[in-house]
Amino acid sequence: MTSQEEINQVVHLAHEAFRELRKSNFQQRAELMNTIADEIEALGDELLQTAHEETHLPLARLTGEKGRTVMQWRTYGAALAAGSVLDVRIDTALPDRTPPRPDIRKTYVGLGPVVVFGASNFPFAFSTAGGDTASAIAAGCPVIVKAHSAHTRTAGIMAAAIQRGVKKAGYPEGTFAQVFSNSREISQSLVKHPLVKAVGFTGSYAGGKALFDIAHQRPEPIPGFSEMGSVNPVFVLPEKMKNAPVETAQQYVASLTLGVGQFCTNPGIIIVPEDCQEFLTALVAAAEQVAPCKMLHEGMAEAYVQTKAAVSSQENVRVLMGASSSEKGIGSASLALASAGDFLANNTLQEEGFGPFGLVVTYRSPEQMTDIARKIHGQLTCTILGEEAEIREYEELLLCITEKCGRLLFNGFPTGVEVVSAMHHSGPFPACTDSRFTSVGPDAIRRFARPVSYQNVPDAYLPDELKNSNPLGLYRLVNGKITQEALD
Ligand code: NAP
Repeated sequence: MTSQEEINQVVHLAHEAFRELRKSNFQQRAELMNTIADEIEALGDELLQTAHEETHLPLARLTGEKGRTVMQWRTYGAALAAGSVLDVRIDTALPDRTPPRPDIRKTYVGLGPVVVFGASNFPFAFSTAGGDTASAIAAGCPVIVKAHSAHTRTAGIMAAAIQRGVKKAGYPEGTFAQVFSNSREISQSLVKHPLVKAVGFTGSYAGGKALFDIAHQRPEPIPGFSEMGSVNPVFVLPEKMKNAPVETAQQYVASLTLGVGQFCTNPGIIIVPEDCQEFLTALVAAAEQVAPCKMLHEGMAEAYVQTKAAVSSQENVRVLMGASSSEKGIGSASLALASAGDFLANNTLQEEGFGPFGLVVTYRSPEQMTDIARKIHGQLTCTILGEEAEIREYEELLLCITEKCGRLLFNGFPTGVEVVSAMHHSGPFPACTDSRFTSVGPDAIRRFARPVSYQNVPDAYLPDELKNSNPLGLYRLVNGKITQEALD
């Protein structure tokens, strides 16, 4: 376990590394990211086997997640080098204008040392070497990871790979560090340290909100970006329910139970028309086919049983299928039913049961469905299942749910999250503490960078991306036009 004194040393090393990282340009940092990606890619069976033992996630899933993690480092680096994330603007001087316009050029600089807290359900892609770490380093920030207690050995292997990459690429030791702590006090002291300048968090609402509050209540407040829980409601329109009740039920159960429901994009609530017996029968039949599985850890399974019990025991909520396994650490699919009226009157029904628990909410009229959309908290995703022809009648519903989420889906399920430039993995509070920024896709880099304008600064003192000769070959917005050309 890392002591308070060691935390202080680690933060000071990160602070020193920040000065060095500040001298690197976009291309050099992209090279650093590729070197780190090479090291992670070279990790073999030991990594996969260790993660499998610590998380109970299947090897096939972990193999895919490792590939995604490597791809995140490479694509974020490529987007940085291409200038498409930290986009550069140049407005050249107009000396003959009255009054004369100075030369103004804008780029981004890293915020400083960033502390990262990862999630237990993605031991690679949202943990030590996950998107928060990759995007902070891309922004030019040294990173200190607080290793997740549920997979410390996996975290150690990943950290060693990143450290080898940092060394090979010639960057200082403080560019990346990892600390181990079970003590909230020690972990929180990282966020309170005056030399730390931002926090990236993925995990529970309780943890994300607590760390965000600490970041904001410091004498010098710093940005705290927390990605937290979400119930990802699915709204089923009447015609869709009439035409495809069985198919809808089967597809919903497949998404709900994927990975024992341990995804932040798990669709925990489905809102359906009142007259839906065929759907309910098919839903229970499909859920009964899903074998109970080991969850990430026993604490997670206990929390799952408690939250689903808390929701299912509310007044007028009917359990459709709810047997909990008597075996410790196992999660089994569960379903409950409530009316729209009860949902609207009781906030507890919006609680996330992190696991394969689905709440079916029945509406009597389209207006009631829209009332639900107005009532739901901020979400990572919202989904509409409907026939093409009927969707246009639900303009108000669409407007309401677009206000509530970071990603809107039509006739699909939200569980998978593509790592692409157009992805927005975020959402209004409480899904996230800042809905303007994403934690997936290269735009995630922006969370850890701040713009700086350079006014009338001689070319020799400008960062490479702003120099007249355009040595990095970037596409730049020069006097309102995107161009790759050098300036005279
Ligand atoms: P967690 O319990 O909040 O833990 C995340 C990390 O934060 C851990 O390292 C934990 O330390 C630390 N931490 C938590 N509370 C803290 C506090 N008050 N002070 C200092 N450190 C604290 O989350 P989890 O169990 O990994 O993940 C489950 C939850 O994450 C679910 O609710 C799920 O919806 C959400 N999730 C969200 C996303 C997303 O993208 N939004 C992705 C994955 C998961 P310890 O290691 O010491 O416990």
